[in-house]
Amino acid sequence: MIVTGRIVRRLPAPYPPHSLRRSPIAHSPNPVHFHHTAMLGRALILKTSAFSPVERMVRKSFLFRGVVRRFIAGESLEEAINVCEGLTAKGFLVTLDYLGENTKSEQEALAARSTYMKMLGCIAASPCGKNANISIKLTQCGLDQGDDVAERNYRQVLTEAETFGSFVRVDMEASAYVQRTLEIIERVWPDHKNTGTVLQSYLYRTPDDVELMIRLQMRTRLVKGAYLEPESVAHKAKAKVDEAYVECGKRLLKDGFYPAIATHDQRIVEILKAYATQEKVDKAKFEFQMLYGIRRDLQESLRSEGYNVRVYVPFGESWYPYFTRRLAERPANIWFILKSFVRG
Ligand SMILES: Cc1cc2nc3c(=O)[nH]c(=O)nc-3n(C[C@H](O)[C@H](O)[C@H](O)COP(=O)(O)OP(=O)(O)OC[C@H]3O[C@@H](n4cnc5c(N)ncnc54)[C@H](O)[C@@H]3O)c2cc1C
Repeated sequence: MIVTGRIVRRLPAPYPPHSLRRSPIAHSPNPVHFHHTAMLGRALILKTSAFSPVERMVRKSFLFRGVVRRFIAGESLEEAINVCEGLTAKGFLVTLDYLGENTKSEQEALAARSTYMKMLGCIAASPCGKNANISIKLTQCGLDQGDDVAERNYRQVLTEAETFGSFVRVDMEASAYVQRTLEIIERVWPDHKNTGTVLQSYLYRTPDDVELMIRLQMRTRLVKGAYLEPESVAHKAKAKVDEAYVECGKRLLKDGFYPAIATHDQRIVEILKAYATQEKVDKAKFEFQMLYGIRRDLQESLRSEGYNVRVYVPFGESWYPYFTRRLAERPANIWFILKSFVRG
């Protein structure tokens, strides 16, 4: 007990203020060298974390608990709803994400569908009400078992959401799923207008997909992209990903329907705020989105400036892949953990 207490006290606070984090880019003598090192660090973290002994250690060791709780609202729906209520009380919008991907059977996909439906019911019954929606994944609806399986489950979730006047966002996964995901959403769209999706600026194809979303007038969340993708499909250089983000963001702000600018990149946030002001895009016509536990200072300042800010709140027992993607995005997070190991 004593040992546990001593080590836990040395773990970082669940939400270190951003001012305590150093921007590695700003402190790097050579940004190009830093970029390659960061990419290597990211790939290394994603590859190492895929080994099952590493996963077992991260899941079991209390040393990781603090940093896990920084990004994950909890394992149960009740814990997640509590977090959502707290955020709603502070004036944030929320989207609830049930963690998990790539179901192995139709039964697993049905179980995920039931959880999605339960989430919709719990949100509707909570004080979050219309300020909350859900984000789902088609591989959790059974995409690996077949497009028809995923589409059937997705349609049922949308029908359930309609009864509560709720909205369902389809997260975008690895590039191998992008075309199939967009085809399914487009097929469903004539029957269900309470849905939207996500586009990733690192993919070369995304400017064309942005135009498709504008034609359909479908709510689109723009992100940089979280998966390890080959150079044949995605920009590798951060500058290119950022440049594409800004261009796609401007297109969506100008002609899209209630787009979501989902990034923690303050420079990009400022550029797109300035663009919206210049083009007289009303603050009510778009929203910013950020992940639970990341850049809370920026979330709060945007909210106080009168922007809509939605926090993406993940929960569930299958938190491991999501957690490792968050670590890989910012390898500095690993140092917190390593330091506590060394001290412990
Ligand atoms: C609401 C939301 C939904 C998302 N949905 C999807 C999706 O459906 N599909 C998908 O592929 N990706 C999704 N992502 C993840 C996204 O693709 C990026 O991987 C992630 O947002 C990091 O990129 P960034 O835009 O914040 O920019 P970056 O350039 O990675 O980061 C900019 C700055 O943000 C801060 N920051 C970023 N990440 C972290 C972190 N983990 N810990 C601490 N600080 C950090 C740092 O200050 C960093 O300098 C989503 C992101 C958000 C915000």
